[in-house]
Amino acid sequence: MTENIAAATGSGPTAAPADESLVTARATELSASLTALTARIDAACRAAGRTSAEVRLLPVTKFFPASDIEILYGLGRREFGESREQEASGKVAQLRHLSQVRWEFIGRLQRNKAKHVARWADTVYSVDSDRLATALDAGTEAALEAGERHSPLRVLLQVSLDDDPERGGVRGATLLALADQVAASASLQLAGLMAIPPVDADPDAAFAELERVHASLLRTHPEATELSAGMSGDLEAAIRHGSTCVRVGTALMGARPITSA
Ligand SMILES: *Cc1c(COP(=O)(O)O)cnc(C)c1O
Repeated sequence: MTENIAAATGSGPTAAPADESLVTARATELSASLTALTARIDAACRAAGRTSAEVRLLPVTKFFPASDIEILYGLGRREFGESREQEASGKVAQLRHLSQVRWEFIGRLQRNKAKHVARWADTVYSVDSDRLATALDAGTEAALEAGERHSPLRVLLQVSLDDDPERGGVRGATLLALADQVAASASLQLAGLMAIPPVDADPDAAFAELERVHASLLRTHPEATELSAGMSGDLEAAIRHGSTCVRVGTALMGARPITSA
């Protein structure tokens, strides 16, 4: 990608100052990939007999600089997904001048980081334990009292689609009990579910299971309408199975420097 930018900006004596031309090249690149991605999501919606308005795109900007977020903001995006607490907190501080941004925390969250994230996140996507929910509720209450935020924290419960505890997520009766707890928490708002299919799974089968779990949750929590499923590689399958929010990094931003988070 760095090579592409260098090639696109040229390096002759008439080229604009390096910083400016790099930003312009990156803006051109992100604008084109956003257009292509939006067309891809629209096509997936049409193929699934759904309207594009039913599926929201959450750009995932982890590992990419604040300058990329400013470019996407200029292209009309107002919601950004981040997955690493320290990196995200830094970008939030750097980008305070952008109004009406919604930061959405999509990664694994340690309990001791909950109070930091509760200061700036609109939504946390990865709640999978009663202790994490309790910590987020307390952190959000403190942030509300301090005037650092003005609305409850939206919470998505992370569903496990396999039995691997390493990958996070809950299922079955544990999931329903956690939903009850979040719904009853003063500073949290139960918004829905999120899942990441196991690496080797058939995405259609995994998302079909997720869709069934969501349907059963809606019976007791009709307010939990959000179903966040689908990433760069599998968003079509997710949209076939009721996703209301695709979280896309690579297909929009390009390859991340490292891929393990
Ligand atoms: C990084 C990440 C994504 C985006 O993945 P891509 O395959 O790059 O689109 C989506 N969801 C979560 C939870 C992530 O951590």
